[in-house]
Amino acid sequence: MRAFFIFLSKSKWLQSIFTNWSYAWKIASRFVAGTTLAESILVVKKVNAAGFVATLDHLGEQTESLSDAQTATEEIIDLIVAIKDNGVRSNVSIKLSQIGLVLDFEECKQNLKKIIEKAKQCDVFVRIDMEDSSLTDATLQLLYWAHSLYGGVGIVIQSYLFRSSNDVEELLNKGITMRLVKGAYKEPYSIAFKKKSDVDINYDLLTDKILKDPQVKNYEPFIEGIFPSFLGLGTHDDRRIKFGINLAKQLGLGKTQVEIQMLFGIRKDLQEKYVHSEYPVRLYIPYGIHWFPYFMRRLAERPANVWFFVSNFFHR
Ligand SMILES: Cc1cc2nc3c(=O)[nH]c(=O)nc-3n(C[C@H](O)[C@H](O)[C@H](O)COP(=O)(O)OP(=O)(O)OC[C@H]3O[C@@H](n4cnc5c(N)ncnc54)[C@H](O)[C@@H]3O)c2cc1C
Repeated sequence: MRAFFIFLSKSKWLQSIFTNWSYAWKIASRFVAGTTLAESILVVKKVNAAGFVATLDHLGEQTESLSDAQTATEEIIDLIVAIKDNGVRSNVSIKLSQIGLVLDFEECKQNLKKIIEKAKQCDVFVRIDMEDSSLTDATLQLLYWAHSLYGGVGIVIQSYLFRSSNDVEELLNKGITMRLVKGAYKEPYSIAFKKKSDVDINYDLLTDKILKDPQVKNYEPFIEGIFPSFLGLGTHDDRRIKFGINLAKQLGLGKTQVEIQMLFGIRKDLQEKYVHSEYPVRLYIPYGIHWFPYFMRRLAERPANVWFFVSNFFHR
């Protein structure tokens, strides 16, 4: 079922049906903060008031024309300015395929440069999300280049990929901060763990590797709240969170070294459980009109979400 929904997430035909279907938006809006920048800033103000920090994602991926990539770049720049102007405790998460990575590497690099320059000017941190494995090498290449221009850029590492341990080593060598996730795409078993238990074991191994690196202890984010802790535990799996937090405590690491990151609208019970702990909780808050692939991945992750979608349709 997971594979099926990830396959559907790429369908432009289904995307246009869902995007114009008010019922689908009603359900999707459990996971998406709104369609406009103004709505998303309001949500960030609310979650900040409740003790959370945030990362805002202007939804969009696999952009199909360079002019759309350019428009997306400008929208991300507007978002960075809005974070600064509103004084909210949030940074941004971006996807490189949204700003042209699958179309033209050099154009994407130029778009990324514009985003990075604005982020540097506004003191806003930029997290580069990790997409499917066809883009991993190019994403890391652009990350290393962007990080050499501005230290306030970080990346996401997926524990389902065999390669991640080596990537983590390289990132540690370069002092680049990471969000660790399990991985949301359908990958071939020649390059990714098949069993969920193996993905979980690797998640803990990678957590261990990152937190035990000597430089992590001395890491201080430039601006608390906006700049993340060195490692973001990006998961709703309480066993993974507990493992990371217990290890951090044993190693004497605090809130500048480790934070918990969860998706807006998912496991609110767990969000509440940790929000007043000694480690920050950052909510990943997506907004915008291109919510379909993001929503499909959330359905793919949990059969109960599909059931909720279908059963509510018949019980309206
Ligand atoms: C902040 C953040 C950023 C992310 N960024 C990326 C990225 O850049 N690239 C990438 O590939 N992936 C990303 N992901 C997604 C991630 O890879 C997983 O697909 C997703 O988090 C589900 O896995 P899990 O770690 O929560 O563990 P799981 O073992 O899948 O889930 C643990 C528990 O969480 C709950 N849960 C999980 N998913 C859902 C859901 N959709 N609806 C309702 N409940 C749910 C369930 O109670 C489940 O039992 C991100 C996740 C987070 C939290």
